[in-house]
Amino acid sequence: MITRMSTLFLRTLREDPADAEVPSHKLLVRAGYVRRIAPGIYSWLPLGLRVLRKIEEIVREEMNAIGAQEIHFPALLPKEPYEATGRWTEYGPNLFRLKDRKGGDYLLGPTHEELFALTVKGEYSSYKDYPVMLYQIQTKYRDEERPRAGILRGREFVMKDSYSFDLDDEGLANSYQLHRDAYIRIFDRVGLRYVIVAATSGAMGGSASEEFLAESETGEDTFVRSTGSGFAANVEAVVTPVPPVEPIEGKAAAEVHHTPNTPTIETLVDFLNANTDRKFTAADTLKNVLVKNRQPGSQDWELLAVGVPGDREVDMKRLEASLEPAEVALLEEADFAANPFLVKGYIGPKALQDNGVRYLVDPRVVTGTAWVTGADKADHHVVDLLCGRDFTPDGTIEAAEVREGDPSPDGQGTLVAARGIEIGHIFQLGRKYADAFSLDALGQDGKPKRITMGSYGVGVSRLVAAIAEQSHDEQGLVWPREVAPADVHVVIAGKDESIRERGEAIAAELDTVGVQVILDDRTVSPGVKFADSELLGVPTVLVVGKGLAKGVVEVRDRRSGERVEVEADNAVPHLIEVIRG
Ligand code: ATP
Ligand code: MG
Repeated sequence: MITRMSTLFLRTLREDPADAEVPSHKLLVRAGYVRRIAPGIYSWLPLGLRVLRKIEEIVREEMNAIGAQEIHFPALLPKEPYEATGRWTEYGPNLFRLKDRKGGDYLLGPTHEELFALTVKGEYSSYKDYPVMLYQIQTKYRDEERPRAGILRGREFVMKDSYSFDLDDEGLANSYQLHRDAYIRIFDRVGLRYVIVAATSGAMGGSASEEFLAESETGEDTFVRSTGSGFAANVEAVVTPVPPVEPIEGKAAAEVHHTPNTPTIETLVDFLNANTDRKFTAADTLKNVLVKNRQPGSQDWELLAVGVPGDREVDMKRLEASLEPAEVALLEEADFAANPFLVKGYIGPKALQDNGVRYLVDPRVVTGTAWVTGADKADHHVVDLLCGRDFTPDGTIEAAEVREGDPSPDGQGTLVAARGIEIGHIFQLGRKYADAFSLDALGQDGKPKRITMGSYGVGVSRLVAAIAEQSHDEQGLVWPREVAPADVHVVIAGKDESIRERGEAIAAELDTVGVQVILDDRTVSPGVKFADSELLGVPTVLVVGKGLAKGVVEVRDRRSGERVEVEADNAVPHLIEVIRG
């Protein structure tokens, strides 16, 4: 079916919508792909829906190819399964909760682990049934605090969510790898530039979770990448290269200095440089930051000291990721009052270790390195305190901030900061949900075996925006061929009946051979038509206009802007060649 602009349900806009800040949002609204209904809630108009459906189809093909089976759950769900896993409350204000006429509690599903686990439990019982992978492409609801950038962060959005069910860890690792490979194929096919980053450092057991981030300045996720290799990671997952251990012999003895009014690193360094004949920098100092942490389920906070080179701040997100699943909090005045050995601004390893405070240091603090640090007495610091001789930390911790220019953990190049849009997330869940619902298979030995799960998400509607974000110019959208709303946009540029007839004929011929055509058969000026064709972003534009007098038509490449004249008689085979490559 030829899509005729004369009847297409489409009104393009010349002006950017007032509430739009990022290019994808502006252009998708201006090009008439989506319309806003309420904050974070959008409707899909014909061309937008086509792009969405094409992406869905790619996702579906790749999921089917790894043997996952499609099913479909309701969005409207009863409370009980989510209560059983604690997520009815844990999800907090992000969950849309509602009541039915009888007062029963319901929710709009934000993600469906519970329902999939329960469904598998309902159907399967023997080890012979496993493994199984199930997925759906379905509408999700999250009452996001800050819906943003149109469909990029919606409160209603389309997600492909899949879940794997395996008998053992090896099976789970295999299902995870299958999904990882499928995601690579999906994101390659939709033409995105993206990186795969470990969600955490792996302290919790291998690459149990990875995120796919589409590179984009407008993304909300920050990550680092190497200038010298393909290395990319979440800041939380960056592992600090450990410098070589240094000899202890022959190093100067530690010495306590009276350093009045030097509670900060800056004042300390200035003081030492003015009052000793050595030259110190902030990186020579060891800053000891006190926090408290407690294990899940415990009531008791434990003090924890974190030692980092004084030229770096403690990055709370990195610290939290390193201590997961423990909860971390900053100390309050009452904590200092209860522990008078903590002399604010002058905390040193000695008092910590004398008082049984766990002391973890940055991986750069290796045996044989000398530090300027607190002497546990107001206005006093110790110089040349040697790690491995004068103090012995309880271990190392990744808590110091990561900075641009830091060496890449793979030894190649240095790190730079980048931003991305999370388009996919793969996660080895383990037995959390299987435990909540006692999801077991009867094993070969007649004993029940607890199932282990993985969950895997793709932001299908978000992909439309992520692609638009990476692929546009001043004039409009530039769709990668696989997701474009049509293969060719035929513009009839002229009032002559012969031009119109030829445009119609070429469009009909293309349509017959299965090329998807948008035909601009409107009576508006060629200028308006060209502007719209650029805004809509179909990758190939065919202009049938004045050139026809000489027997030629023009083929424009929307991405490169390249224009070539071809014989009108040869237009169809030429276009097929361009499209099918
Ligand atoms: P984010 O960190 O962006 O909030 P998330 O980690 O909460 O995402 P998941 O629960 O992992 O998201 O959901 C799987 C995928 O669904 C995400 O990778 C993302 O592509 C997509 N997604 C999540 N929230 C939204 C949203 N509000 N609007 C559109 N897509 C979303
Ligand atoms: Mg996620």
